[in-house]
Order: sequence, then C-alpha cells, then structure tokens
Amino acid sequence: MKYIGAHVSASGGVENAPVNAHEIGATAFALFTKNQRQWVAAPLTETSIRLFKERCAEFGYKPQQILPHDSYLVNLGSPEVEGLEKSRAAFLDEMQRCEQLGLDRLNFHPGSHLNKLSEDDCLKRIAESINITLAATHGVTAVIENTAGQGTNVGYRFEQLRQIIDLVDDKSRVGVCIDTAHAFASGYNLATPDGFSAVFQQFDDVIGFSYLRGMHLNDSKKELSTRVDRHEVLGEGHIGKTVFELIMADSRFDNIPLILETPDETRWNQEVAWLKSNVKS
Ligand SMILES: [Zn+2]
Ligand SMILES: [Zn+2]
Repeated sequence: MKYIGAHVSASGGVENAPVNAHEIGATAFALFTKNQRQWVAAPLTETSIRLFKERCAEFGYKPQQILPHDSYLVNLGSPEVEGLEKSRAAFLDEMQRCEQLGLDRLNFHPGSHLNKLSEDDCLKRIAESINITLAATHGVTAVIENTAGQGTNVGYRFEQLRQIIDLVDDKSRVGVCIDTAHAFASGYNLATPDGFSAVFQQFDDVIGFSYLRGMHLNDSKKELSTRVDRHEVLGEGHIGKTVFELIMADSRFDNIPLILETPDETRWNQEVAWLKSNVKS
C-alpha cells in the first residue's frame, strides 16, 4: 500500500491533525506533537490523547501511516553543553509524547556542528544522543532525516546517515526519512529516470531500504547541489514531476508515510490526488 499525505496542522491540539489529514484525502500524515518553536510545552492531556487515538481509528490511520516530526530547536549534535542537554531533554519528551499517542516513529533532523566540532564528532554525538533516548523509551523508532546540507547541518550524504546508524546500539529502533528536496539540494540528482535509479541504488547500497521509515515528497525551489533547503509545489521546482511518478510506481516505497511538505497547503488535496493517480498496484 502507498500511504500518502502531508504535514498537517495540529493547532488547537494533536487531535485535530487526523481531521485535517482526512479533509485533504490523505492516507498518511505528519504532525508536530508540540509547538515546534518552543523548548518546553505542556504535557498532552488525557482528552487530547484519547481523541487523537479515536480519530485515527475513525479515519483509518495506523502508526505506520503517521510520521511525527520533532521541534526545529533540537540539535542532537550540539557542540555546546547547555544546548546538548536541552536538546536531549526535548527529544526525550518528544519520544515520550509519541509513546503516549501510540505512535511508533519520530522524524528529526540529525543536527549541526556550528563550526565548533568536526562533522565526524558531530555524527558521533548524534548517535550518542539517540542511544541515550532509546534506552529511556520503548517502541518508538528514531527516524533520521537527510538534510540539504545547509549551514552547518550534517546528514546530507547517505554515508553520514550510515555513520550514525552504525553507532546506534539498537538497530531495530533507528531508521531514516529521505526528503527529495533535501537530497536534490545536497547533490543527488533524482530528477530523471536514470538519476532516480542510481540515487536509490546508492541509497540501498549505503543504508538499505530496510531502514526507510518515511519519505518527504517535496520539489525544490533551488537547483541541484545548492545546499539550500527551499521546498516547492510538486512539478513547479527544479526536480519536476518524474521522480514522484516513479516513487508512486515503486513497491520499495510501500507501507511507509509519504509526506508532502510543499508550501501551498491549499493545493495539498490536489497534490495528494495526483500522487494517488500515479500509484501502480
Ligand atoms: Zn523534510
Ligand atoms: Zn526542508
């Protein structure tokens, strides 16, 4: 099965996310389980948790169709003591929120070295952060997203994601999410059929499809290898529609959340419908 949706709003409470997803015809969705721009949030209420679960059941969203995303503030590879402690505490809180909601994975951006650590040391620190968090939680997989390599972000090469995975103790609870716009901006040319084949062959060789726990389907406002992270509506950026047609027709992308983070939410219902129309089963 292809599970297709978007990163929908959870404003007013996480229980609103499945409703918003259902309204755009989605069979998957992403959400923030707390305000993504604040370090600390009030705990989820019993009512929110209950309604979230009831509505997911009502609209047919199982954990494998849902990809929660953590706060943008978290930097699990932070070179600074205070920043690292705050990040690890916030990440643990986010993992626990997922546990409370009955969700099985949490998507996050690996981290940034801020020019104070080597990339290798930053990757090691991220793996250590994941190990600490996994040891304190149950049932939720840490899903590392590839980045565009903007600024001092690490995780823009498949090899870097592999380096993190290699250092994680519990391999059954670590996975990856590949964002098409980030991949393209970081230099992976998946815009053509040949490019798509080569990039995902490389992905399989370096990381392996068994680790793929979600995809972010975005076109890119920026050109290949610019290392700038700007999403665009599918087909209106430098990637074009081909890669999305190929993903929809490829069983390697079955049974994981395929999530739009494109900039015009009024068009998500059309983008979801178009993606669905390309599914070959
Ligand atoms: Zn993304
Ligand atoms: Zn992005």
